Amino acid sequence: MGKAQLLDPVRLPIPKKKSASPKDEIKKLSSALKKATKHNTQLKENLSKSLPPDELEIYESYIEMINDPEVVDQTIAYIEKEQCNVDFAYYQIQKGFISSIEQLDDPYLKQRAEDLRMITNGVLECMLEKHSKNNSIDTPSILIADKIDPNQLAELNPKLLLGLITSKGGITDHTTIIAKALGIPFLIGVKNVTEKITTGDLVILDSEHQCVTLHPSSELIEQTQLKIEQQKINWDKERERAKEKAYTQSNKTIEVLANVGSLQEAIDASDCGADGIGLLRTELCFIEQASLPNEKKHFEFYSELLSNLPDKTHTLRLLDFGSDKQFPGLPSSPEENPAMGNRALRLGFMHYELLLKPQIRAFLRLSSTFKIQILCPMITTLEDLDQIKKAIKLENDTIHSTGKTKTPIPPIGIMVEVPNVALHPELFVPQADFFSFGTNDLAQFIMAADRTNAQVAHYLESANPSLVQCITAYVNHAKEYHKKVSICGELASNPDYLKHFIELGVASLSMPPRLIPKIKAQITSFD
Ligand code: PEP
Ligand code: MG
Repeated sequence: MGKAQLLDPVRLPIPKKKSASPKDEIKKLSSALKKATKHNTQLKENLSKSLPPDELEIYESYIEMINDPEVVDQTIAYIEKEQCNVDFAYYQIQKGFISSIEQLDDPYLKQRAEDLRMITNGVLECMLEKHSKNNSIDTPSILIADKIDPNQLAELNPKLLLGLITSKGGITDHTTIIAKALGIPFLIGVKNVTEKITTGDLVILDSEHQCVTLHPSSELIEQTQLKIEQQKINWDKERERAKEKAYTQSNKTIEVLANVGSLQEAIDASDCGADGIGLLRTELCFIEQASLPNEKKHFEFYSELLSNLPDKTHTLRLLDFGSDKQFPGLPSSPEENPAMGNRALRLGFMHYELLLKPQIRAFLRLSSTFKIQILCPMITTLEDLDQIKKAIKLENDTIHSTGKTKTPIPPIGIMVEVPNVALHPELFVPQADFFSFGTNDLAQFIMAADRTNAQVAHYLESANPSLVQCITAYVNHAKEYHKKVSICGELASNPDYLKHFIELGVASLSMPPRLIPKIKAQITSFD
């Protein structure tokens, strides 16, 4: 709860003016680029205390983009030819680059176009000497914008930043990643928010219930204040209690695990009392890197990550690149429906030497030191499952034949996230060691509603009864084979189903680390 502060963007389009001295305009260009570079270096430094190094690498590429020689040369040529103002020339050149990238049908490049737009605005702010005043906060505030870019976010004092509300943005953009890493409450996709809320308005942002209250009554303010204070007290207590395993009062239990995608999240998982990692999204660990990891890099990364955690069984998922998690250096052909296209193991087998082989070998070597199990994403048919099991066995045999440490194959499980798998427990249960319901993808396929499209999000909320029906059938089949069924999609942390999952006999629920203490507290409150 706090006063709103509207982010003041650069006003576009920029007017063209005649310049008496193109030389002075060129000088202005170089000084703006220097300022913008310095600014980004400073931001990187400020963030280095709160973000892990791999998430800071993005600032190196921002600095390269600012000083791109092609942009500089073309801007100078434009100024000389048109005898015009530097801001207009620079904007025209960057606009050309942005629209040519945007025309390519590639989600990764679309994100790069967003980055370039952000860089352009930053340099323009330096040219127009507009910078900062309107966009900094000196009192605790909730920031309101159409879109807040990572630089603007990084610039703000996190102690004064109470929350963020934007009308645009996606769950995979960098801003969301940073906001999550910093633990700032936020809501994205709130329609027309910049028109409805102005600077100084009192706002209550409830990210848990996805709700914004403008001009709350004095009664609601008082209630909210109490709620915030209570939440702080509860959070500390719950986090402390979460270190223990959670049992209901009649001594039933369910493991509460963490979804992890970076070293920092592994540390958070340990802090928040996770009973282990239920889903390591390995693709997120490397998505920001310049090149794909080789076997050694895979091995070292997971070893470091797992050594931050207690000695429990951890579930490591094979790379799920593709769809909205594109790796830039990987050759890919444009796809109309990438979520149902060449992703996960489909892509992994297409580039076996580059993607699956080094990772499988690293997992196998890791299993002699850590208790791990291997999770296979987007399994669709029994043939898919057979293919990956054979590949793992082959790599294991090769490791043995070269005389490296003997490695028994860890349990191999599958994500249940494709309807064909969800509908046929009788076929799949006998063939894998464990099962983890990816309810995010499963919901999007069951409801024919793209999980990254805010316009069809309401359909996904109606998927729960169908999801629960599939989960129930799996648990019942798996009991006969003494195998475990878990949930690692959003549904795992839905409190409405918690009791049902415990009674049904779901083995574990895996969720973002910060949700674990609350879920464990709820479990202990059940009869
Ligand atoms: C899922 O699909 O539910 C899941 C847990 O995997 P991801 O969100 O990484 O696709
Ligand atoms: Mg999935």
